[in-house]
Amino acid sequence: MRILVTNDDGIDSPGLFAVKQALEGCGEVAVIAPDQNRSAVGRSITIAESIDVLEVPFPDGSMGYSVNGTPVDCVRLASLGFLEWEPDIVVSGINLGPNLGDDITYSGTVAAAFEGIMLGIPAIAVSIERPGGWKAIGNEGVFYFDVVASFTARLAEKLVTNELPGPVLLNINSPNLDAAGIKGAEVTRLGKRIYRDQLVEEAPGGNGGKRYQIYGDDPSYHEEEGTDFHAVALQKISVTPIHFALTNLAGMDMIRDLGLDSLLDNGRPVD
Ligand code: MN
Repeated sequence: MRILVTNDDGIDSPGLFAVKQALEGCGEVAVIAPDQNRSAVGRSITIAESIDVLEVPFPDGSMGYSVNGTPVDCVRLASLGFLEWEPDIVVSGINLGPNLGDDITYSGTVAAAFEGIMLGIPAIAVSIERPGGWKAIGNEGVFYFDVVASFTARLAEKLVTNELPGPVLLNINSPNLDAAGIKGAEVTRLGKRIYRDQLVEEAPGGNGGKRYQIYGDDPSYHEEEGTDFHAVALQKISVTPIHFALTNLAGMDMIRDLGLDSLLDNGRPVD
């Protein structure tokens, strides 16, 4: 099978290299990834500027493509014929830091996988907890990629060989533990984040305007069984199937019952 690997942490990330190596046991792998850390860009795309692509070596001597664009741009490049083949699956990660519950809407890692399923290609987003906590940056600390990397490769094979209905996005999150520490793997639903951000005013910036920090404390989550948060807290790998059906069907009935035609102007003032 043919596998496109990307991420949002940038092509130098050790998480990307770990999953690429594990996936090489399943077939042909191409890596197209951002040239720098693009975490939390969500589904951004580059429309106003050109995209530069540079071939760069990995520590094992193989080559990958470094792109001055977003994770979604990377998947787009592949789908538009940049590679000599179309991927059978998109794997995005391994992200350094979890992508759980509501966080997935901000995540560049998950956004790249969304692009896969939008294009009809099954996709996996894979993330690991960070030793330094939520706001740690860079690659500091010890990451245990092995278990989740090989788990991802085996799951990718099942996705592509039609053992699972596709296209589907699987969002994988792993505790940062070695094989002895990981207690299992389970299917989950997205849980609910508790954000504890505060508006903190700082000394003014160079342009004389006001300056703030708005993302601060380590976020928490609601303790609910069956959620991705709960599985990872129990030291298990969490797998959440995700789709892109954003329409609120119950909401359609509610809004229809308002009688939208009755809200049309017809020259009436708003009362
Ligand atoms: Mn990231």
